[in-house]
Amino acid sequence: MTATYEQLTALNKAYLWHPFTQMKDYNAADPLIIERGDGIMLYDLQGRAYYDGFSSVWLNVHGHNVPELNQAITEQLGRVAHSTLLGMANVPAIQLADQLVRISPEGLTKVFFSDAGATGVEIAIKMAFQYWRNRGISGKSSFITMNQAYHGDTIGAVSVGAIPLYHDLFRPMLFPAHVLPYPNAYRHEGGAAGAMEATLAALRDLLESRGDEIAALIVEPIVQGASGIIIMPPGCLRGLAELCREYGVLLIADEVATGFGRTGAMFACDLEGVSPDLMIVGKGLTGGYLPVAATLATEEVYDAFYADYREQKTFFHGHSYTGNPLGCAVALASLQLLEERCIVQGVIEKAAFAATKLSALIDWPHVGDIRQQGLMIGIELVRDKVSREPYAWEERIGVRVCQRARELGMLTRPLGNVIVLIPPLVSTEAELEAMIRILATAIRDVTEAGWGREG
Ligand code: PLP
Repeated sequence: MTATYEQLTALNKAYLWHPFTQMKDYNAADPLIIERGDGIMLYDLQGRAYYDGFSSVWLNVHGHNVPELNQAITEQLGRVAHSTLLGMANVPAIQLADQLVRISPEGLTKVFFSDAGATGVEIAIKMAFQYWRNRGISGKSSFITMNQAYHGDTIGAVSVGAIPLYHDLFRPMLFPAHVLPYPNAYRHEGGAAGAMEATLAALRDLLESRGDEIAALIVEPIVQGASGIIIMPPGCLRGLAELCREYGVLLIADEVATGFGRTGAMFACDLEGVSPDLMIVGKGLTGGYLPVAATLATEEVYDAFYADYREQKTFFHGHSYTGNPLGCAVALASLQLLEERCIVQGVIEKAAFAATKLSALIDWPHVGDIRQQGLMIGIELVRDKVSREPYAWEERIGVRVCQRARELGMLTRPLGNVIVLIPPLVSTEAELEAMIRILATAIRDVTEAGWGREG
């Protein structure tokens, strides 16, 4: 049965509740309904084409409708769609665990699957907590996070989240976490060096005074994503890792957004040779096809749980679809393409190309900062370039730029006043150039010509 745009619009408005969306605004407009994808393009029901400029929320690697990935799923479908990992295994889950260990930072040797970045974070937090209990050290039970951190939307992940708009409302129901200043060079009076020094000094102070109570530090390595693509000064991640080691606190690296080549290395941790105790991956793991995430742990963490059953050190956690064979099969195919097609090396070259094209924008009157690590790009728009005064949230400047970009044929979502360009890793230079041109036009139309201003 084929449905018309009008029928689907009516059903959409009647029944769907969209994430991170004010439904009153959504229902006032004609919805974008995607019908198919091909390469880095998405097509809506009316046949209009859009560049996927945010990789369908930061996860697409090889483009859409990729024959090799489609085939991996179909072949697995002919065997079994799902069976559980509770007390038994399936073929692609074993093989994917092996491949993940092979490509991950040194020391991460055990893989615990789940189905979203947030569940991977929950698992890491619970593992870190129980790790110390299992070792007979009960005092180490609190967590450190970074200001403006985002780790997903389940309650544990929100507890280590620090974006006021998303998280403050829920504080009464969350466990408290220590919050370190995130080294935001653009917004720190001491620039990159001052910001990094402040962060590392704050961590040292905290560990000196409360280290005995702290189970782990959780961090988005190198790039803090949802806060506005904020890049750590070089050496900062390494500094954080060294302090954790020195004071006996576990390091949890949340690579959900940064993993699988996005930053110009397989994992952002690799950029500074950091080996965390726990690492979470999701999003790009399946190339952007299916919801699979994983929490990787070191032998040392795993060993703390490995005991006679009567010692009750088992990790009592699991999800119905953990290690889903279809998801693991497509993840395996995606990792194979990543290597065969030298995608990570390609990201380094494409990132350099994009940086050159973007550099023209930095002198524009309302472009405050352009931040980029690999193919994660954030353009921060400001009302006043000299004082760096932000636009008021009521102006919805980011939303308006993205609406204009959509009109011009590209999809992306803003992070407040930061415009995001996170294209599929296979985007060609010509495609990158086209996307940057659309973004530039949209920014100019909104910030200089007042496009979309109310009233
Ligand atoms: N961690 C980070 C760093 C993220 O950027 C995200 C999502 O954007 C998550 C965790 C949550 O992942 P998911 O949306 O798959 O639950």
